[in-house]
Amino acid sequence: MTRITMKNPIAELDGDEMTRVLWAMIKEELILPFVDLKTEYYDLGLMNRDATNDEVSAESARAIQRLGVGVKCATITSNAARQEEYKLTALYPSPNATIRAILDGTVFRKPIAVSNVKPSVSCWRAPIVIGRHAYGDVYKSAEMEVEGPGKVELVYTKADGTERRVTVADFKGPGIVQGIHNLNGSIQSFARACFLYALEEKLPVWFASKDTISKTYDGRFKAIFNEVYETEFKEKCAARGISYFYTLIDDAVARVVKGEGGFLWACKNYDGDVMSDMIASASGSLAMMTSVLVSPAGAFEYEAAHGTVQQHYYKWQRGEKTSTNPVALIFAWTGALAKRADIDGTPELSAFAKRLETATLKTIEDGEMTGDLARLASPAPAKALDSGEFIKTIAGRI
Ligand code: NAP
Ligand code: MG
Repeated sequence: MTRITMKNPIAELDGDEMTRVLWAMIKEELILPFVDLKTEYYDLGLMNRDATNDEVSAESARAIQRLGVGVKCATITSNAARQEEYKLTALYPSPNATIRAILDGTVFRKPIAVSNVKPSVSCWRAPIVIGRHAYGDVYKSAEMEVEGPGKVELVYTKADGTERRVTVADFKGPGIVQGIHNLNGSIQSFARACFLYALEEKLPVWFASKDTISKTYDGRFKAIFNEVYETEFKEKCAARGISYFYTLIDDAVARVVKGEGGFLWACKNYDGDVMSDMIASASGSLAMMTSVLVSPAGAFEYEAAHGTVQQHYYKWQRGEKTSTNPVALIFAWTGALAKRADIDGTPELSAFAKRLETATLKTIEDGEMTGDLARLASPAPAKALDSGEFIKTIAGRI
C-alpha cells in the first residue's frame, strides 16, 4: 500500500508514563501504516527535561510557532514526590505552562460524543465547549511564604522610575502570599479567539468572572471582553444569530448544570482548568475530550486534556494489561494532521484524519471500548478491551 505523503512536518512532543506508552502504540498501529509521517520530534519526558535543564520545553514551543502545528502527549508536572521518584536535579514549571506562556492564546476543549454514552447531566442536549485563556493568572505567579509579622506590599516601579504601592496584608503571624498578572493584549486575543471560534462553530458565547469581588482584575477581563464584542463582533454575531452573555462565575456554574448545553463557555485560565475536567467527566470520561491551543499568531497545538494516567502506568510496569482510553490522544493526532492538511492543501491527509476519527467512534458505538466507557455505556458491552485490543480493533476498521 502506498502511504499518504505530507508536505510539511508537525512538531511532535512526546511525554510521560501511560500516555507515552499509548503514544507509541497509536503511531505504530494507527498512523505509520497509512501516513509517511513527517515530524520534528521533541522528547518532553521528565528525564529529558531534567537532562536539558528544561530547554527542550521552550524549544518545542518555538517549533510549534515555526511549523504552525504541534501535537503533544501528556507530561508529568514535577513536584517533590516526582523529584524523589525520578531523582531530578531541579523542579521545573509544567511544560504546558511554558508552552502556553510562549504561544499565548486560548485552549478550546470539546467533549467527544458517542451515541451509546449519555452525559451524566441528563438535560444536556449538545456539547459544552470550554474556551480557556491560556496565559497568566496563577499559572505565571510569584509566591512567597511569610515567616511572621510584617507588611506585604505590591510595588509597581514604572519605566520612569516612579513607584506605586498598595498593601496586600499586614501579617500578624506566618502566612502565604501570591502575585498574579495578566496583559490587556492577551485578554483581547483571548476574547477574539473565542468569538472567532463561536462564529465558525455557530455557538453562543458565555463569559464569566468574579468582577464583583475582583473589581480591577476581573473587572478588566469583563470590560475587555465586552469591548471586543461591541467593536468587532456584535454585527457578525447578530448576522449568524449568535448571542453573547456575561454573568458571574458562580451563576454560570449554576446555569450550566440546569441548561441544555450547546454553547462556548469562555473561562479564565484557572476556571477553564477546573471546569473542563468537570465537563469532560460529566460528558463521559476525561479521555473523551479534544483540546487545542490556538495562538493569536495562528499556531495550533493539539493535546489530550487528561494527564499521564499514573496509576495505570504502574500497573503496566508490573506487566499487567491496562484498559486506558487512547481516544483523546488519537484525536490530538487527527486534529494536528487535519490542520496540517488544511494549511498545506493536502486533501488525502485530511480524509485520512477524518477516517481515523470515524473508525474510532464507530468502534465504540459498535460496543468495543475501554473500561472507563464500558462502565457507562448503554447497552453495556460484554467486556472491556485493554488499550492494545482497542487500538488494534480501530486499525482493523481503517
Ligand atoms: P490523570 O492522569 O488525568 O488521571 C486521573 C484519573 O482519571 C486516572 O486515575 C483515571 O481514573 C482517569 N483517567 C484519566 N485519563 C484516562 C484515560 N485516558 N483512560 C482511562 N482513565 C483515565 O490525572 P492525575 O493522575 O492527577 O495526574 C497524573 C500526572 O499527569 C501528574 O503527574 C500530572 O502532573 C500530569 N498531568 C498532565 C497534564 C498534561 O500534560 N496535559 C494534565 C493533567 C495532569 P481511574 O484511576 O479511576 O481509572
Ligand atoms: Mg487540569
